[in-house]
Amino acid sequence: MSAYVLRNGRVIDPASDLDSIADILIADGKIAEVAGHIARRAGRREYDLDGALVAPGLIDAHVHFRDPGLTHKEDLKSGARSALAGGFVRVCCMPNTEPPLDTPERIRDIVERGAETGVHIHPIGAITEGRRLEQVAPLAEMVAAGAIGFSDDGESTRKEDAMLAAFRIAGRLNVPIMVHCEDPALMGGPSISRGAVSTELGVPGIPAEAEERFIERDIGLAEASGGWLHVLHVSTARGAAMIRAAKARGARVTAEVMPHHLLLTEEWVAGRRRYAGAADVVAESTGADPNAVVNPPLRPESDALGLDAFVADGTFDFIATDHAPHAPQDKPADLSRAASGMLGLEVAIPTLAELVRMNRLDWPTVIRMLTIDVARTLNLPGGTLAPGAAADVTVIDPDHRWTPSQATIASRSKNTPLLGIGLQGRAIMTIVGGNVRHYVR
Ligand SMILES: [Zn+2]
Repeated sequence: MSAYVLRNGRVIDPASDLDSIADILIADGKIAEVAGHIARRAGRREYDLDGALVAPGLIDAHVHFRDPGLTHKEDLKSGARSALAGGFVRVCCMPNTEPPLDTPERIRDIVERGAETGVHIHPIGAITEGRRLEQVAPLAEMVAAGAIGFSDDGESTRKEDAMLAAFRIAGRLNVPIMVHCEDPALMGGPSISRGAVSTELGVPGIPAEAEERFIERDIGLAEASGGWLHVLHVSTARGAAMIRAAKARGARVTAEVMPHHLLLTEEWVAGRRRYAGAADVVAESTGADPNAVVNPPLRPESDALGLDAFVADGTFDFIATDHAPHAPQDKPADLSRAASGMLGLEVAIPTLAELVRMNRLDWPTVIRMLTIDVARTLNLPGGTLAPGAAADVTVIDPDHRWTPSQATIASRSKNTPLLGIGLQGRAIMTIVGGNVRHYVR
């Protein structure tokens, strides 16, 4: 493999405590050198990055690739294309497929087919057999086959004995039980936060208590079992405060936050498109938007802004996207029939770029929480630009303007409430193992 230089980027590698304008030499699929200036050499290719951000390849610990079974929405290959277009080199895919990933054979199938996509794909196994929320699936066998954790994402079992057993087994295997914390007893209708907007739209809405009640329950089960609880997609400030308190008393709890829960609010479901913390709308009202229906739901602005403190103090171990592709027929205008979920991989960087422009985040934090923090928390490879590491690299242009559309989105699905909205910020180059897999000039 030939060598090439990424020149004049702002290299941010939190794992090496590096944030400076530098050149990077990539050779034989590895980071060969990072230095203030690398000499030109005849015949060697150069990319002038002109101050764009150079980060370790981004890692998304929470995506839905719908493969097997629902591949009209996404499959491993289209999901990998979406990941590369969004700057992600490594993803962990959720097991709510058809059939679910609940056996070592199905885990192995994802590992093997994933290896051919050009993106590092790690499967997450189902906690319960068939995702029926009853019997614990063969967790040890799935870890041996390549599962990096377990989840019944999409719902949560009421069966505490099954959860306790799963926590004990997974704890011994040193992998997390990744829980979608929502009490089914408090849920009904489409995934819209209960409050003024749900009343306006005439749907029951999901109260914050549904999430908070199961966060509390699952923290209790993790503490009782000695297992490792990873709380998926925290959407309320009170839920985050419970996790902070549990961590403070030494519970083995980790948690993630999603870009959309930080930037978007419940108002988006009603078509009122204003970012949390911004003065002005970003686009005209569209009327009710099924693409803004996501689970857990977009919350009031007070929650979106309230989550910032928990990013700042480390309550959230990392950022993930919950990339959830859906076909047009799954998102009818009638909100009561709208499936939950929105795209994440390609809109994550522009969403986070908006938060940086609002001074709610900064780039070193964003990059740390999408790279080394994910790798360290979940014991995954990657996440650094240290010399000798595999050349998995993402270049971000915080000023690149583009508009998500049917034509510009690489995912097989197009369900994002940001469709048609002018965004600023994009991954312009994604390199995996030294191979440039995505490059927009
Ligand atoms: Zn999910």
